Amino acid sequence: MAYSAWFQCFRGCSGRWSVYDVIYRCPTCGGLLEVAHDVEALKDRSPAAWMRLMDQRVGTTQWPYGSGVWGKKEWVIPDIHDDHIVSMFEGNSNLFWAHRLGREIGLEDLWVKMCGISHTGSFKDLGMTVLVSVVNQMIRSGRSPVRAVACASTGDTSAALAAYGAAAGIPTIVFLPRGKVSAAQLIQPIANGALVLALDTDFDGCMRVVQEVTADNSIYLANSMNSLRIEGQKTVGIEIVQQFDWAVPDWIIIPVGNLGNISALGKGLMLLKELGIINRLPRLVAAQAEKANPLYRSYLTGFREKVTVQAERTLASAIQIGNPVSYEKAVRTLQEFDGLVEQATEHELANAAARADLTGMYTCPHTGVALAVLFKLVERGVIKGKDRVVVISTAHGLKFTQFKTGYHEDTLPEVEALRANPPVYLPADARVVQEVISRRLEAMQAHGT
Ligand SMILES: *Cc1c(COP(=O)(O)O)cnc(C)c1O
Ligand SMILES: [Zn+2]
Repeated sequence: MAYSAWFQCFRGCSGRWSVYDVIYRCPTCGGLLEVAHDVEALKDRSPAAWMRLMDQRVGTTQWPYGSGVWGKKEWVIPDIHDDHIVSMFEGNSNLFWAHRLGREIGLEDLWVKMCGISHTGSFKDLGMTVLVSVVNQMIRSGRSPVRAVACASTGDTSAALAAYGAAAGIPTIVFLPRGKVSAAQLIQPIANGALVLALDTDFDGCMRVVQEVTADNSIYLANSMNSLRIEGQKTVGIEIVQQFDWAVPDWIIIPVGNLGNISALGKGLMLLKELGIINRLPRLVAAQAEKANPLYRSYLTGFREKVTVQAERTLASAIQIGNPVSYEKAVRTLQEFDGLVEQATEHELANAAARADLTGMYTCPHTGVALAVLFKLVERGVIKGKDRVVVISTAHGLKFTQFKTGYHEDTLPEVEALRANPPVYLPADARVVQEVISRRLEAMQAHGT
């Protein structure tokens, strides 16, 4: 049986386009496209047969199935040639049982999906492998006008694009808001040979410029308004269910900015339901930084209208977005998944991240937003003690060293660092050292830690 996928209008206008066409929006209504699959064809395999096939591929070295994304190739881009796929074996990230943190807040069944343990240190790799693979096939076919791939980014998309582009030998151009990404995020695309353009604006300003620059089709647009990225990013939800032996958790919490990823999360889970692999859905929670909270504000009005804001500077810089491109998709997802939106202040996100770190994690500020939202929902009794909860950790803490040092030096704006742990500077004198050690151990015992 031949499986197939194509672009169509997300809002339901008629028309189908090849995923190898350079097209980002519906020509009729201007709305976003989505990749649709021939689900009837996919039903030629039983749910049990699909689960067996996907389970067999985990950890294999057989190209390209060892990738968490391409291990689900039939559900992603079924007809792409295997030798055109550009993959770093992304996905298959650790689903960490956050036992100690869970117990502290009264949850037995808390899990953190460690998506930052990936090639470029964030979950953006999941979508970028798909987009760059499709572009690679377009270029190799010899009929494509595409000369380079470009994106606007808050830091992680550009790192992923530059790495996958370099792996394929495809030129990349990244537009970054000057001074608004971490040092690690800036140096990643530089090291991978991208043309790095740091513009005097914010992410939303970069987004406007990149759309103009890519209008003539010779430079391909890699932002998540390009629904190819969503197809890869959607595997995160599928992978979580698979890691629970195909059982569905009660809640999944994800930090959101441009809203592509929450839409993708829902899309993957919905496919599992359509294929009969799962028969219920988790509730989804979109976690926003209070400094950049347009979705939260729309949520408060019952999504009567799209709110846009001027995003303010937040420690959670990858979600500092005021005009989210995938707003409509995210609203539909939240409605289908009985979803919630909650926000976190700078103080809350930084202390939540530090609290998780004290149980062995090393969380990025966006994961801090999701954890702070988790703590609120547990406190409010919305999330119950017996619920199985997954928090998606979207990037690696090692990308955000300034955030970590700022916290432990207690110099972050609007944050009182309740768990700061600065180093102790001492003379090289064993007696002084012993005294400091015993004072610290006594204090820890007094706190029961
Ligand atoms: C991109 C990103 C997000 C949010 O994803 P959106 O699709 O923009 O909503 C969250 N955390 C990190 C670290 C990211 O890079
Ligand atoms: Zn349309």
